[in-house]
Amino acid sequence: MVGIGERRGRTASADSDGLVDRIGQVVGSKGLILDPRDMEPYLTDWRRLYVGRARAVVRPASTPETAAVVALAAAARVAIVPQGGNTGMVGASVPDDSGRQIVIALGRMNRIRKLDPLNNTLTAEAGCILQQIQEAARAEGRLFPLSLGAEGRCQIGGNLSTNAGGHGVLRYGNARDLVLGIEAVLPDGRIWDGLRALRKDNTGYDLKQLFIGAEGTLGIITAAVLKLFALPEEVVSAFVGFERLEDAMVLLARLRAALGETVTAFELIPRIGLELARRHLANVADPLAGPHAHYLLIEVAGSGRDRDTREAVEAALSEALQAGLLSDAVLAASTAQAKAFWRVRETLSEAQALEGPTIKHDVAVPISEAPAFIRRATTAVEAALPGVRTVAFGHLGDGNIHFNLTHPAGDDPKVFLARQTELNRIVHDITADMDGSISAEHGLGQLKREEIARYKAPLELELMRRIKATLDPLNIMNPGKVL
Ligand SMILES: Cc1cc2nc3c(=O)[nH]c(=O)nc-3n(C[C@H](O)[C@H](O)[C@H](O)COP(=O)(O)OP(=O)(O)OC[C@H]3O[C@@H](n4cnc5c(N)ncnc54)[C@H](O)[C@@H]3O)c2cc1C
Repeated sequence: MVGIGERRGRTASADSDGLVDRIGQVVGSKGLILDPRDMEPYLTDWRRLYVGRARAVVRPASTPETAAVVALAAAARVAIVPQGGNTGMVGASVPDDSGRQIVIALGRMNRIRKLDPLNNTLTAEAGCILQQIQEAARAEGRLFPLSLGAEGRCQIGGNLSTNAGGHGVLRYGNARDLVLGIEAVLPDGRIWDGLRALRKDNTGYDLKQLFIGAEGTLGIITAAVLKLFALPEEVVSAFVGFERLEDAMVLLARLRAALGETVTAFELIPRIGLELARRHLANVADPLAGPHAHYLLIEVAGSGRDRDTREAVEAALSEALQAGLLSDAVLAASTAQAKAFWRVRETLSEAQALEGPTIKHDVAVPISEAPAFIRRATTAVEAALPGVRTVAFGHLGDGNIHFNLTHPAGDDPKVFLARQTELNRIVHDITADMDGSISAEHGLGQLKREEIARYKAPLELELMRRIKATLDPLNIMNPGKVL
């Protein structure tokens, strides 16, 4: 038999142990990328912080193929890096620079295996793009509520492996809360079929939760049973201007009291973020007439049954206006206008990147503490680096702040970047002091692997290491990430 490596003109020394050839026999030529130029997109992370090298990029088409590839790699003691849409923020989805690791990219495993509208579940393969799952659910009159800026590219396997958050956490929870069952390939190549579609199953440890948020270090998720919800009949989007951060938390409490669980998004946008977005990007408009210190993008998704959702939102916001909690508000009059609101929110990272290099922090504190955190951290970084520009935005309703910094205007960005470790330490120490998390939704990957040792209790780290050693004794599953 002619091996894949030979067909592509690779030398024997490049595959001296024949592993790539054996993998090629499992996945065929469609499932194997060896050309360095074709491999490139799989080797660099989204933020371009990490550029790795790989022995091969493997694209299996099924769970048995994935299992066979993992078994071959395990037998050869070759490390594996699972990859979804490669939109992760912490360098977890790319190989190291040894050139010895293989990337297993799940994109060809993109079938929706089952949609059961009466059970309100959808069973999807790991390589399904998030948007594809949202659309499949919608076509059956159901909602899959996980939603984030990268939804047109990230994959459900990646979403689960990072326990992604996004815009709907306030109402529906993180990715972790949206899963009933999982199928995974273990680091020794065995397939664990945990694809149960049950709302109740108290038969011991909840093993699926181990793989969720594990960033590919415990196994490869190959499929999942996802929870579906009723499709909201009416979605109202509001853009609100206000001046004091603390007022936002009072507003959130009032909205929830008035509108219950229908409040699905409560996103903070600072004035500087809006200004940067307008400076650097096309089609970004300020939805309100005058300038305000802060803005909120609020989404309310109602059933439309009890009372008109729009009327209820209008009433709640006008009461808040009278109470002095906000300065101005506008409700989207059309889907296009709602999209324009979301464009402001979604372009904040990009706009900041266009202004110059960014030092990012993805922190969570108790929701009630979020304003105090922003004040304290802003004062501290400004004291350390006068003129530093703070763009604190994000999922305020979950207590999740993207506390991102831009260099002082006119300063050399390189000088700013040289202070990164010091500024990280300031922000993360304040986060820890407020009982927060230094990674709310992006994970640890390579970026925060060392940093977490300062903030997690030694016992927690020990338990994590023990779980890793039990499931992956050869340390071949995404080594060097998380731990
Ligand atoms: C514009 C933009 C907006 C974003 N907004 C948000 C947001 O609001 N909330 C949020 O939480 N994140 C956000 N992200 C980050 C990112 O999109 C999420 O972390 C997403 O869940 C990653 O999915 P992915 O398929 O791209 O995974 P990848 O980046 O490919 O991988 C991420 C991790 O999961 C592992 N992995 C991937 N697939 C599998 C699998 N099948 N089995 C086992 N391990 C696997 C990888 O090894 C890696 O450790 C955003 C990113 C961008 C670019």
